[in-house]
Amino acid sequence: MDIPNKLLSRREALALAAAGTGALVAGCAGSAPAARRKRVIVIGAGLAGLGAAATLRAQGFDVTVVEARKRIGGRVNTVERFGTSVDLGAAWIHDSRGNPLTAVAKAAGLTTVPTDYDRVELRSAGQKPVSEAIMEKTMVARDRIIDSLYRQADNRPRSNLAPALAREIRKQGLTGTSAEALNWLLGVEFPLDLGASPPQLSLGGLNEGAEYDGGPDLLIKEGASQLVNKIAEGTKVDMGVEVTSIKTSRSKVEVRTRAGKTITADGCVVAVPLGVLKASTIRFDPPLPSATRRAVARVGFGLLDKVFLSYDSAWWPADANQLGTIGEPLANTVSVFPLSRLTGTPLAVGLTGGPYAARLEKAGPAAMTAAVAARLKSGFGSGAAPSATLQTNWRREPFTRGSYSYLTPQSGYSDRVALGKLNGRLILAGEHTSIERPATMDGAWLAGKTAARRLAAALT
Ligand SMILES: Cc1cc2nc3c(=O)[nH]c(=O)nc-3n(C[C@H](O)[C@H](O)[C@H](O)COP(=O)(O)OP(=O)(O)OC[C@H]3O[C@@H](n4cnc5c(N)ncnc54)[C@H](O)[C@@H]3O)c2cc1C
Repeated sequence: MDIPNKLLSRREALALAAAGTGALVAGCAGSAPAARRKRVIVIGAGLAGLGAAATLRAQGFDVTVVEARKRIGGRVNTVERFGTSVDLGAAWIHDSRGNPLTAVAKAAGLTTVPTDYDRVELRSAGQKPVSEAIMEKTMVARDRIIDSLYRQADNRPRSNLAPALAREIRKQGLTGTSAEALNWLLGVEFPLDLGASPPQLSLGGLNEGAEYDGGPDLLIKEGASQLVNKIAEGTKVDMGVEVTSIKTSRSKVEVRTRAGKTITADGCVVAVPLGVLKASTIRFDPPLPSATRRAVARVGFGLLDKVFLSYDSAWWPADANQLGTIGEPLANTVSVFPLSRLTGTPLAVGLTGGPYAARLEKAGPAAMTAAVAARLKSGFGSGAAPSATLQTNWRREPFTRGSYSYLTPQSGYSDRVALGKLNGRLILAGEHTSIERPATMDGAWLAGKTAARRLAAALT
């Protein structure tokens, strides 16, 4: 499984050139191993770290992977609950045709189920269904708005999304239920999909990255951790090892752990989340270059949280893929996906995002679950009282501190490039360093491989 040629596009080549490696990716692949086996330490066993480790091993490096948690996968975390596999983090293989993870799922013999996002069942707070005619009209309005914002993003990537979005919404001239339904559909696009609310986002953040060849988004019945397990085959990971400082010199890298151990290597891939870099819980000596530090500060790290709701029996319409109650501010949008077609059990998952999710996390362990359950109840009635629940708190997780990165109005393409730039014997890797597919599983995996190639070129 290697990077599809399609993704080694003009932008990637540009990014490499900007990173100053002077190396073409194709030229690095398969290059001869060093005479003395050089050692590289990879920090973090998420998809980026695992992708980097496999690539470096294939090039003949002696690779040590250290991981702070007692499990691999990072933001991909499937647990067995409610009699089924439940994805607390990433779940969907987006844009499945051409996504390299589709091939991983196939190689691992996993069962995938497509999601049709347009099969939405919306209700007003008084349990009145939003008619099909209104749904059609508002989906057309949403698509028009997104198209227009994409066009504006090409010309003004660093403009704040909020005023542009407000203008576009006004242009549609919708009122009453239609306006509320449109608000909900747009809430799914921003606080949920991008993990941040419109005032936090730049126009350019909407259309950064590349698409594969389309295809539906796929959920994995056995859980997304099975993708990670497949990718991790052959990679040894030292678990429960938290890195606290990284010292680089002209000749070596010294990595210090919370337990007081020092690991010495020739090079280092730092594949920890942007949220961890922002929190400065790892000390870099010397500090990261100023352009990288600026990028760490400027690129946003958003939040998506999930609330799993288990019922005695499935009460939702059999063909509904998403449920929502309208009439709330866009930033407070909650979307609920019934999972029964995937799991064969009466389970649904509610999504909250951005500052709203952050507030609910802060309000205590039960607040988010209560908010999601109440929202469902007001739209769908007393049938919507769950018998058991489980919620995530990605902002509070010390080894993640959020969900995924996004471009703020203060940041842009050059910041992504700065994040992925080789710095002597050290390089960062993760979804936040991906030029083509930030904020995704595949983007993290490919970014890890790219970082490994850049480091390998510098060490050989
Ligand atoms: C709720 C949620 C839903 C998502 N949904 C999707 C989706 O449907 N589809 C999709 O494609 N993507 C989705 N994503 C995004 C996707 O999960 C990430 O882009 C991707 O998994 C990031 O991989 P990574 O390797 O960059 O980082 P991570 O997976 O976060 O890995 C980083 C690793 O570093 C470790 N670490 C941190 N600090 C230290 C330290 N000091 N010492 C040692 N180790 C350390 C962490 O424990 C972690 O294992 C979602 C994310 C979340 C949170």
